[in-house]
Amino acid sequence: GDDNESPQKETLIMATNAEFPPYEFHEGQGIVGIDAEIAAAIAGKLGYDFEIEDMAFDSIIPAVTSGKVSFGMAGMTVTPDRLESVDFSDSYATGVQVIIVKEGSQITSVDDLFADGANYNVGVQTGTTGDIYASDDIEGAGLGTIERYNKGADAVQSLATGKIDCVIIDNEPAKEFVAANEGLKILDTEYAVEDYAICFAKGSELTEKVNGALNELIADGTVQAIIDKYINA
Ligand code: GLN
Repeated sequence: GDDNESPQKETLIMATNAEFPPYEFHEGQGIVGIDAEIAAAIAGKLGYDFEIEDMAFDSIIPAVTSGKVSFGMAGMTVTPDRLESVDFSDSYATGVQVIIVKEGSQITSVDDLFADGANYNVGVQTGTTGDIYASDDIEGAGLGTIERYNKGADAVQSLATGKIDCVIIDNEPAKEFVAANEGLKILDTEYAVEDYAICFAKGSELTEKVNGALNELIADGTVQAIIDKYINA
C-alpha cells in the first residue's frame, strides 16, 4: 500500500446553537462545552473529523432533516413532536425547565403563573421547549403573553431591565445567566424535567454508530467526566 493515498477522513458536522452554556458556548474563536466535547469524543472514537456549525436553535432540526449537517446536539430535549421529524440517540443528560424571576417578584412558584387572573409577560428562547410549553399552557390558555428571543441570554437581559416578568429556560444555562446578572433568582419549583439527546435525520445510518459510541463513552465514565468539568456538583 501507498501511505500517501490513504483516503481522507470523513467529517461529522454537528449543528448547534452556541448560546447555551455550559452545553455549548463561544470561547475565544471556538465553540466549547459539554455537547461539543462529547461529540468530539464520539467522532474521534468512530474515526471521523469533526466540525461544529453554529445556527439559531430553531434551524437545527431543518439542517438535520435536509442533510446539511450530520446531527444536531444542543441540549436538545426529546419531545413527541420532534420525534415525528428526527430520530434521537439515547439520552446523555437531564434538563430541567426552571423559572427565573427578579428578586422580590410576585411570582414565587410555578403555580403562580397559572393562578386565576394571572397575566404575566414570559420570556423564552424561540423554538425551545420553554417556548412550546409557555405557548401552549400560558399564551394558549389566555394566562399571559410570550416574548420570544433568539438567545436565552437576551431573554434574561430583558428580565433584568424589567421588560418581562420571568424567563422559562433550562436549569444549567439559567444558573450561568443568573450568576452573570444582579438581582435575579431561580424559583425552587421545577416546570418540567426532560431528557437531552442527539438528533439525526430519520433513518440515518449514523444514528446507530453514534449511539453505540455514546453508550461506550457513558459506560467508561468519559461523559460524566466531561459533565463534571463544566458543572460543579
Ligand atoms: N432543552 C431545550 C429544548 O430542547 C432548550 C435547548 C436550547 O436552548 N439549546 O428545546
